Amino acid sequence: MERHPFDLVVIGAGPGGYVAAIQAAQRGAKVLLIDRGPLGGTCLNIGCIPTKTLLASAEVLHIVKRASEYGIDVGSTSCDYRKMKERKDGVVQKMRSGLTGLLQGNKITVWKGQAEFLSPFELKVRGENSGIVEAKQVIIATGSEPLDIPAFPCDHKKVFNSTSILDLTQLPKKLAVVGGGYIGCEFASLFAELGVEVVILEALPKIVMLQGNSVSAALTEAFKKRSIQVMTEVMVERIEDLGVGLKIHLKEKEPILADIALISVGRKVVTDGLKLEAAGIATDAKGAIPVDERMQTSVPGIYAIGDVTGKMMLAHVASHQGVVAAINATGGQAVMHYDSVPAVIFTHPEIACVGMTLEEAKGKGLRAITGRFPFQALGKAVATIETEGFAEVILEEGTGRILGAQVVGKEAASLIAEMALAIANELTADCIGETIHAHPTLPEALHEATLLALGTPLHLPPKPKKVS
Ligand SMILES: Cc1cc2nc3c(=O)[nH]c(=O)nc-3n(C[C@H](O)[C@H](O)[C@H](O)COP(=O)(O)OP(=O)(O)OC[C@H]3O[C@@H](n4cnc5c(N)ncnc54)[C@H](O)[C@@H]3O)c2cc1C
Repeated sequence: MERHPFDLVVIGAGPGGYVAAIQAAQRGAKVLLIDRGPLGGTCLNIGCIPTKTLLASAEVLHIVKRASEYGIDVGSTSCDYRKMKERKDGVVQKMRSGLTGLLQGNKITVWKGQAEFLSPFELKVRGENSGIVEAKQVIIATGSEPLDIPAFPCDHKKVFNSTSILDLTQLPKKLAVVGGGYIGCEFASLFAELGVEVVILEALPKIVMLQGNSVSAALTEAFKKRSIQVMTEVMVERIEDLGVGLKIHLKEKEPILADIALISVGRKVVTDGLKLEAAGIATDAKGAIPVDERMQTSVPGIYAIGDVTGKMMLAHVASHQGVVAAINATGGQAVMHYDSVPAVIFTHPEIACVGMTLEEAKGKGLRAITGRFPFQALGKAVATIETEGFAEVILEEGTGRILGAQVVGKEAASLIAEMALAIANELTADCIGETIHAHPTLPEALHEATLLALGTPLHLPPKPKKVS
């Protein structure tokens, strides 16, 4: 096999790997990017982009259904799910070719094939491109995949995972979502908006537990209003195929009937076939690759980024880790911070969080005060009949340090960027309070929430400060 020398080899072309490759190439490195699948990884092909494209179609339907409230008569509405799926495939295809051009523009060599370590800085690639690659530095960005439960494996005909459900061309009448994390909730929200009867089966006491009590309670309430049935503290034992549908057997509870089921109970890291042992790279009990704050693995000169590190499994985290690793792999110095990572759940209503929840702040022994401003009291929200939700900030009493923020409602994903910037730059509540926010806009909700926490609200009566 021919040998090919590179300064840096990046394994995996998801949002972690391709961003790392671009950053390193822009810093002058000769870079090889290897992927065994399509460019863009999970995020572009079977994650963020396809799901958000489908959710965008559902959002249009939502607005059209409410058109008469805006004084517009649109007659009857119906959705053609096959066309929505085709639109989704088209968007993915378009983004993929954009990425191909971007990598070419940065003079990155791209190989299609499976990579495996022969030694720390020597890799074998097999596939459309084959050869032995010699690297001065390596970045591993091989991502994650849906976790299977052996007691009820996916057949991808009636029992789906988050990947195979994207190939549906027809809507079921009833969908059971096993797992109430953010991926399960996004699919529940999507299908419910399209008229599917949805039940969520969650083993924990709450859905989206990681996002804290107030977000979890708000989403549960919103789902109830949309007739999404949320069953918590239920254990699925097995799924029986009845021919015409499924019977989902629950521990010590009556079974649930559904046409199809989505299993979204978590993700596992991907390291299969990499032969990490040949490079002496350590893994933890879950198979994830531990890294230091510079994204370096147990082997100096070999970095790992993205989902495979088992940290926050989000595309923008993978990309930022990629930037940090690429800087370190090309002679610079950078460290990764996780304090101001925004996390969004693209349900209806949308949910976005950054920093600490109130419970986390309390858990750290901080004296936290909160301010919560309802969208109902916001001119822009009333004008656009999107009054569901709130903006909440969590501050440290005395210093005014912004500890965290949560937004539930229209444009939450965009609104949270202001608070991410504030936390990343250690701004205090006064900085937000003294910043002029345009009127009438949704960001006023965060301004008002901050003023409320400070005890000087302008558009709500002052309330006694909540001290914890
Ligand atoms: C349904 C769904 C919705 C999501 N929505 C969002 C969202 O809205 N926002 C968000 O931030 N995150 C979202 N995510 C998470 C996001 O997709 C991941 O966090 C992100 O893709 C991780 O990026 P990565 O670069 O670490 O790995 P991946 O994107 O998984 O890419 C890894 C790549 O490595 C390749 N690979 C693996 N092993 C090898 C090998 N040995 N040789 C060669 N190539 C290999 C794979 O083919 C793959 O292309 C979603 C995920 C899912 C499943």
